[in-house]
Amino acid sequence: MKIGLMGGGQLGLMMIEAAHKIGLSVTVFADSRSCPAFKLCDDFIEASFTDKNALSKFREQCDVFTVETENIPLSALDYISEKKIVCPNGEAIRVTQNRIDEKKFANSLGIPTVPFIEITASNIRDIDSYFFPGILKTARFGYDGKGQVHIEEKSQLLRNVKDLANSQYIFEKKIPLDTELSIIIVRDKDGNIASYPLAENRHENGILAESLMPANVSVDVHKLAFTYGEKIVKQLNYVGVLTVEFFLNNGKLLFNEMAPRPHNSGHQTINASVTSQFEQQVRICASLPIGDTTLKYDVRLENILGDLWFSNNSREPREPNWEELTGGVKILKLYGKNEPRVGRKMGHLITLIKER
Ligand code: ADP
Ligand code: MG
Repeated sequence: MKIGLMGGGQLGLMMIEAAHKIGLSVTVFADSRSCPAFKLCDDFIEASFTDKNALSKFREQCDVFTVETENIPLSALDYISEKKIVCPNGEAIRVTQNRIDEKKFANSLGIPTVPFIEITASNIRDIDSYFFPGILKTARFGYDGKGQVHIEEKSQLLRNVKDLANSQYIFEKKIPLDTELSIIIVRDKDGNIASYPLAENRHENGILAESLMPANVSVDVHKLAFTYGEKIVKQLNYVGVLTVEFFLNNGKLLFNEMAPRPHNSGHQTINASVTSQFEQQVRICASLPIGDTTLKYDVRLENILGDLWFSNNSREPREPNWEELTGGVKILKLYGKNEPRVGRKMGHLITLIKER
């Protein structure tokens, strides 16, 4: 069985490791071979997602297809879906590509979100003061806080909405957060559903800094997050791993965004769960039963950003002292990215806190 993986980032790398563990091979399709997945995959097709010849070869070569990023052009997903199965389906991926669509979708299922409004040429001068201060976000392609600007007052909005003709923008009320949470749900093609315990996430500058599993919140919040996640995967007829990010605001659980794939806040599952989030994704692709999601340890993840290579104000990147950082206790995972950059995710550290 050969899995066709679209995208070559670190999530792809960890999916390939999981696939190999259970004897499956992976062909990666990505626009550049300078990516973490290149070194480990069984086959690599370096081409643009608009290259029909390359896509056709890819489609012939593999039995089943998946993504490690939501930002795969729909035309490519549609092309592959004409002949082969893509997990999750293209429509589910489409919803997750756009912050406005995914929030409207959540609301349509009765799942609350932060107050938001789409910015248009006709309303931009007249946004209700209720939304201020707020956060302006591009509706598509943002990640790790990129494409976001904090806005105090209306004039700033006009200055920061740069290209209404070609981009869509969402404006969200900025709300106080008790904490941030995420749930990783798995659904197979027969409709069986499982989930990992909620993760509790702390962000710095819009980038995940630390994640604890399980989250230190009430059983009711855990249950509600699962109920929301379940509603979403059922409605989308979702097959694969889905992550839903939530805000907890004055005790109220609000949908923030979702990702059609394993998630940064689930890397702990590699070391602390019976089955990792990455293995689940490849198991579902291969029509294997959902693996056991039991968490064996309370666990903490810390992201390693490229900033670490430039500590002490050095201009040239310097390899961090890993022994010092792990203290002989933390488990280090590096993604093999060629170039450390400030704000770029380079790897992570795992601490197994206590056996459960
Ligand atoms: P990204 O795709 O970059 O993860 P998010 O919408 O999740 O985009 O925003 C990144 C982080 O910014 C969130 O995890 C949260 O810490 C903060 N944030 C985003 N939107 C809001 C909001 N409306 N109110 C308060 N904080 C927010
Ligand atoms: Mg987010």
